[in-house]
Amino acid sequence: MTSNQIRRRFLDFFKDKNHAVLNSAPLVTSDTKGLTNSTLFNTAGVQPLIPYLLGETHPEGKRLASVQKCLRTTDIEEVSDATHATFFEMLGNWSLGDYFKEEAIKLSFEFLTDKEVGLGLDPERLYVTVFEGDENAPKDDEAFSIWKKYLPASRIYFMSADSNWWSAGDNGPCGPDTEMFYDITKDGLGELSKEAYIKADEEQKVVEIWNDVFMEYEKKDGEIKGKLSEQNVDTGSGLERITMVTQGKDSIFDTDLFSPLIEKIKKEAENYNTEGGRIIADHLKAVSFMLTEGVLPSNTDRGYILRRLLRRAIRWSDKLKIENIKISDLADIVALIYKDTYPEITENLESIKKAIDLEEIKFRKRLKAGLKELEKGTDPFILFTTYGFPVELTKELRAENGQDIDLEDFAKKLKAHQDLSRTGAAEKFKGGLASHDQKSIQYHTATHLLHQALREVLGDHVSQKGSNITTDRLRFDFTHSAKMTDGEKKSVEDLVNQKIKEGLPVKSITLPKAEAEKTAALHFFGDKYGDEVNIYYIGESLEGAFSKEFCGGPHIKNTSELSNFKIKKEESVASGTRRIKATLE
Ligand code: ATP
Ligand code: MG
Repeated sequence: MTSNQIRRRFLDFFKDKNHAVLNSAPLVTSDTKGLTNSTLFNTAGVQPLIPYLLGETHPEGKRLASVQKCLRTTDIEEVSDATHATFFEMLGNWSLGDYFKEEAIKLSFEFLTDKEVGLGLDPERLYVTVFEGDENAPKDDEAFSIWKKYLPASRIYFMSADSNWWSAGDNGPCGPDTEMFYDITKDGLGELSKEAYIKADEEQKVVEIWNDVFMEYEKKDGEIKGKLSEQNVDTGSGLERITMVTQGKDSIFDTDLFSPLIEKIKKEAENYNTEGGRIIADHLKAVSFMLTEGVLPSNTDRGYILRRLLRRAIRWSDKLKIENIKISDLADIVALIYKDTYPEITENLESIKKAIDLEEIKFRKRLKAGLKELEKGTDPFILFTTYGFPVELTKELRAENGQDIDLEDFAKKLKAHQDLSRTGAAEKFKGGLASHDQKSIQYHTATHLLHQALREVLGDHVSQKGSNITTDRLRFDFTHSAKMTDGEKKSVEDLVNQKIKEGLPVKSITLPKAEAEKTAALHFFGDKYGDEVNIYYIGESLEGAFSKEFCGGPHIKNTSELSNFKIKKEESVASGTRRIKATLE
């Protein structure tokens, strides 16, 4: 079975069991939910769904399934092992107050083992863990006895909260989980004692392929207060790993999701080694997806993650002596692997490759000088800021000489550096509204309408990159990778003009930060907001408002004060960033 077939099969299976199939949210987290503020990329299928697990009603119903693009930089050190990638896809199914443990386990087991509609995996190779109980919550006997219908008790292990308990924080739902592992050894491990199973896990002889979380309890101020009235199920299974076990491969890099990349690297490298090959393949893939969504290399936030991955891959390509192709040529293969599932990579291929080439040139300019500094023992943070050496690179290069670096010290300095540059960005943004005369204020409100209209027409990936207002036009920069079509421009204009015609009130409300974030009002990523936040919303009520944004104002009182809205220009300002100039006529 190919990975494309597995992805399809998963969604068909759950569709057939009355689940609504959701599209993957972008890799880049949306800035609207507040809750995702601390992560720059979606790291699990559940992430875009958190508001619904916390009680919001999902428009598609109570049974959901998706294949979500994920990025985990926390796994960067693991990337050369058999089962970890930085970019991967997570298959998931959810019950929002609908089915619970009985059905969730049945669905997982059936999809894994059924030959007709599932993957036809061998149940003899499955091992599962359930929660053993602690002072907070009892042993999960229920999950244990459900699993016993499918597997011998000897292959079901009770494990501690470290591995089998899920919690989102001090407040909200939490509960036990059950994890499924697959034996990937040639001859099969057979019966394993708990100790032997734990050892097999450490040695990667069994691979975690799926995790079902049962949101059963409610936590308040860090203490469990009882059962939730609505119990949810949240599951996650890595497509790469599921493909690996289904295809009988030893690592995710041997599956069709990676092998064309690995093969190409092997062919071009004079000095191939597995670790380097996997790192280059993984990082180039992640970088291609990030660039597709408009992330660009920089020294902060998402851009810094991209830069780290790309520069590390470039350095490894030197080590492996890949000299006859450019590293950006590997993006062609990423596009090919995902041409059916994520055609946007192919569509953006040219600009992806250009961005990679530019970054490579930048990096190479400094590489020689940086290597000299490195030999002198220069501080890793200086190597980063002055010579563009990502910290992993410095760490790897120093390790070659048996030296260690102080990662904590680096992290501290980086944070101070980023806080400074964010303040800079915030100042610039606020400076967007230079004058408080009536015309500028009108343009300010029109900018809010435009922002929301763009999201409705182009999609939720649109977020503000910058804004500048004068008395005779607004200028708005936003994330979007393609040139807008005439039809799209017209739809945006029409939507803004419709809202103007509706004569909607423009209101504001001040809320404690946590509550403000729950309203899903748009806000600037990474901006520091105080304990109290002001939200401007356009519409009768906050809930039903057409537009909501964290904003200090000032604004007009009613959209009817605005005249006809017209887009004058739509252009690219950087890869993945478009600019609109518009007027009120
Ligand atoms: P592990 O302990 O192996 O790192 P995890 O506990 O971090 O896994 P979860 O957070 O439970 O994994 O994620 C759900 C599923 O996503 C896992 O069962 C696995 O199949 C997949 N997964 C997690 N991390 C990665 C990764 N870095 N690369 C590929 N697949 C992953
Ligand atoms: Mg992990």
